[in-house]
Amino acid sequence: MKAVVVNAEGTGVEVIEKEFRPIEAGEALVEIEYCGVCHTDLHVAHGDFGKVPGRVLGHEGIGLVKEVAPDVRNLKVGDRVSVAWFFQGCGSCEYCTTGRETLCRDVKNAGYSVDGGMAKQCIVTADYAVKVPDKLDPAQASSITCAGVTTYKAIKEANVQPGQWVVIYGAGGLGNLAIQYAKKVFNAHVIAVDINQDKLDLALESGADISLNGREIEDIPGKIMEITGLGAHAAVVTAVSKVAFNQAVDSLRAAGVLVAVGLPSEYMDLSIVKLVLDGIKVVGSLVGTRKDLEEAFQFGAEGLVVPVVQLRPVEEATAVFDEMEAGTIQGRMVLDFKNA
Ligand SMILES: [Zn+2]
Ligand SMILES: [Zn+2]
Repeated sequence: MKAVVVNAEGTGVEVIEKEFRPIEAGEALVEIEYCGVCHTDLHVAHGDFGKVPGRVLGHEGIGLVKEVAPDVRNLKVGDRVSVAWFFQGCGSCEYCTTGRETLCRDVKNAGYSVDGGMAKQCIVTADYAVKVPDKLDPAQASSITCAGVTTYKAIKEANVQPGQWVVIYGAGGLGNLAIQYAKKVFNAHVIAVDINQDKLDLALESGADISLNGREIEDIPGKIMEITGLGAHAAVVTAVSKVAFNQAVDSLRAAGVLVAVGLPSEYMDLSIVKLVLDGIKVVGSLVGTRKDLEEAFQFGAEGLVVPVVQLRPVEEATAVFDEMEAGTIQGRMVLDFKNA
């Protein structure tokens, strides 16, 4: 069966034919329909988190349950489920038992520490496979499985209230969904910041109230102060750029919250004086729990959030990864395993 895996050198991707083992107790076999391609897959393929040659990539998988082990109670054949980055926690540590399971130290991540959703089939741990509502388009659901739940959770972490100002730094695949959740679910006023005008145009179509182009406006934080009066209540940084993180801190009002989502491998500049005197909070946010994902899916099913996805044949997987590396992708690319 077709699978997109990390190559033997652990430096890139290749499409291979792979046989899957039989399922064991507590597991379900999922026939994958769609799997989105994420920047994290690129990191895994390049060995940025350690080399994993042969690993099936993918943590934005959506598919139909084809078989369940006899002891499985929560899933039945025909259910549509997701394969997310948070594949499984230990279930008993202080994070798993206090609603913070994504921080489990013994976490398993799909497409990295266990085989993921970028294949015709995927074996999941039934208790951890989140169901996808019938009304949600499965290709769009693939984007919510990672980008959607990540940004939904980030805005939750920012504790945004209706009518407040939120700045989304980076209007790419993640940023676009952050804009939609901020505007349509949390009823915030949304400012999108990016350096690509086409992404900003899409941001405005997706619900951003104001777009700011970092290539054209020299002082982004100053402009945000001008628009919001005191500064933004929250900034969610999806951009993989230290500059964006630094600008985000400077665009917050007192008691503002910066939520870090993007992963530039650098340090941000943080004025301790500003942090203390303005009571600024800086928090990291990593994907979302099963409950967060269930909520994020439901808003998609209700039509409030519509991921911009483009289907691509599985054979084009390596080309899609090249495009992602070159930064030429608009919205989210989704590999079509249904027709593979
Ligand atoms: Zn992802
Ligand atoms: Zn745990």
